[in-house]
Amino acid sequence: MAFNQRNNFKPFKSKVWLASPTMHGEELNYITEAYETNWMSTVGKNINEVEASVAEYVGVRYAVALSSGTSSLHLAMKLAGIETYGIPVTGHGALEGKYVFCSDLTFDATVNPVVYEGGIPVFIDAEYDSWNIDPQALEKAFAMYPEVKIVVLAHLYGTPGKMEEIAAILNKHKAILIEDAAESFGATYHGKQTGSFGKYNTISFNGNKIITGSSGGCFLTNDREAADKIRKWSTQSRENAAWYQHEELGYNYRMSNVIAGVVRGQFGYLEEHIKQKKEIYYRYKEGFNGLPVSMNPIPDKCEPNYWLSCLLIDSEAMSKQVRGEREVLYLPEHGKSCPTEILEAMNSIHAEGRPIWKPMHAQPIYRLNPYVVKNGNGRAGSNAYLAGETPDNGMDIFHRGLCLPSDNKMTQEQQDRIIEVVRACFA
Ligand SMILES: *Cc1c(COP(=O)(O)O)cnc(C)c1O
Repeated sequence: MAFNQRNNFKPFKSKVWLASPTMHGEELNYITEAYETNWMSTVGKNINEVEASVAEYVGVRYAVALSSGTSSLHLAMKLAGIETYGIPVTGHGALEGKYVFCSDLTFDATVNPVVYEGGIPVFIDAEYDSWNIDPQALEKAFAMYPEVKIVVLAHLYGTPGKMEEIAAILNKHKAILIEDAAESFGATYHGKQTGSFGKYNTISFNGNKIITGSSGGCFLTNDREAADKIRKWSTQSRENAAWYQHEELGYNYRMSNVIAGVVRGQFGYLEEHIKQKKEIYYRYKEGFNGLPVSMNPIPDKCEPNYWLSCLLIDSEAMSKQVRGEREVLYLPEHGKSCPTEILEAMNSIHAEGRPIWKPMHAQPIYRLNPYVVKNGNGRAGSNAYLAGETPDNGMDIFHRGLCLPSDNKMTQEQQDRIIEVVRACFA
């Protein structure tokens, strides 16, 4: 039996979270400033400061502060669609009927914006090296769908994708890159910040990200016209007239000056958070020494922001685990374990873990979308994974991996107990 020593582990008195907001006090000063000066709106100094700091930090010319990462991705998709296919007659649906290549192993906010604009996500399998878009699968996708001109790539859990290879492929096919750097703010590839590689990019200040505004996000670009366009669309597309004059479809996507106050206060702590998360990652790595597991990979030339520490169980050490659409079953086995067992064990001591993002091609909503893997046919009327083969890296990572509690306020003692619990699962 694997984790039958459960009762020997004392639960934490207060829950250890996956990744919760970490406030420092300065946030309150900026919120108060907004309140006292009555800039309780989507205009104000906090917003301007956030835009300036983020653009400078990431190394892009323009940052536009928005209500969320998702709204930024939406407007980025719309802009890329219009640029590629022209202005739609109806004013919306800039990607109507068009294929867009997307990360498969990611959160659905990466891909939903494609659908908001009427596009059809084509999912590209992940690679083991970075857990991000597999350059070889991407090459194959361009061979299958040479007409595609837009690619959305997420840097999963704060680890950059292979940007050199990806950029070379995109150049060759004259396609636009949109980076979803929602999880990777502060991470670098070859010393260059994620969020600065694509034409239009996104970071997020959602409550569990590396720094937070409680919500919020930024659109990033070097293109002045693009930044102006996004700012205009995000504030209901008002024209320069004495009345409310509208010539384009508008959105209410601007960041609030109160939220911006929180982000502004957090900004100076980004590097501290990254440092803490990095320590957590390496403490896990050391703590799992000798177990049949590995941590989420760090490819060459990458410095992640270590947003979430993840664990991947060696194939031979996986106990039997079967996931249906909503339910899961596993068989405890001596010397082996599975993500479900480890998540249950952590839950029993009041620590929050999470399964790896379930790949998009396996989501019921995207079940019929095209899907490209390096080996095999991807979605050619069959699900290779269910057929007992695994040419499909993303599904394999989902099957064998999990996110560990990665909260930067976690103490060393708490982390030690979590490590012991994981070890006990393999007893
Ligand atoms: C959080 C997240 C988003 C969305 O950001 P919000 O600010 O929550 O809208 C998009 N993509 C990925 C990969 C994310 O993790």
